[in-house]
Amino acid sequence: MRKRIVAGNWKMNTDVAAGIKLASDLMQFLRDQPAPENVGVAIAPPFTHLTEINKVIDPAKICLAAQNCASEANGAYTGEVSVGMLKATGVMAVIIGHSERRAYFKEDHATLAKKVDLAIKNEMRPIFCCGEVLEERNAGIQNQVVEKQLKESLFHLDNEDFSRVIIAYEPVWAIGTGVVASPDQAQEIHKYIRSLVAARYGAGIAGELTILYGGSCKSSNAAEIFSKPDVDGGLIGGAALDAAEFHRIVLSF
Ligand code: PEP
Repeated sequence: MRKRIVAGNWKMNTDVAAGIKLASDLMQFLRDQPAPENVGVAIAPPFTHLTEINKVIDPAKICLAAQNCASEANGAYTGEVSVGMLKATGVMAVIIGHSERRAYFKEDHATLAKKVDLAIKNEMRPIFCCGEVLEERNAGIQNQVVEKQLKESLFHLDNEDFSRVIIAYEPVWAIGTGVVASPDQAQEIHKYIRSLVAARYGAGIAGELTILYGGSCKSSNAAEIFSKPDVDGGLIGGAALDAAEFHRIVLSF
């Protein structure tokens, strides 16, 4: 049975003290009421918080993730943070290709492919984001958009490396908007993503692939979305900033 995951993307929110409190509160909720069997929990705090947060979480209960990484291994890249540096703080997974990185920081398919390669080389799991903007959804081309994103940044991987990837389908029109994709919309495109992976890597690898839904997911809608056969959990933004609410989402399976 493939792994189910609820991952929190804190984005550029909280200072270190507030981040430690949020992570500690979540730890306490998970001690009191653990995640269901086969459900993994991850949090992606800002870079500045990682070392301190790693001290207050139990890696058996919460996987530490990063929100981004550099596309180069090291060197004269002022302001960048490498996968190796992240690894040294205890990070086990990294979000790559979030729509905010694509839109505001102009990250293209080739750059994202380099980040994916570096993450895998450093034994880190990429949480690779894909998804269409509203105009593309209205034009009915969401499948083609997602297919291109996967082909250009992931499908160069060999079978073994691809097995480390987690995909997050995040329709851009649903991120931070309060407009959530319907469970059927999510299922339809998750199934399509899995079919693309099956065509490239075979049914076995596709069956094991964890595909998360992201976009205005909350405890009030998570259970219905997660009940769909090809939805294996969620990448949670706003609702991850409230430990009790995030914990309720973890319990939504
Ligand atoms: C995200 O940014 O990954 C996300 C899903 O945000 P939100 O849950 O706030 O829509």
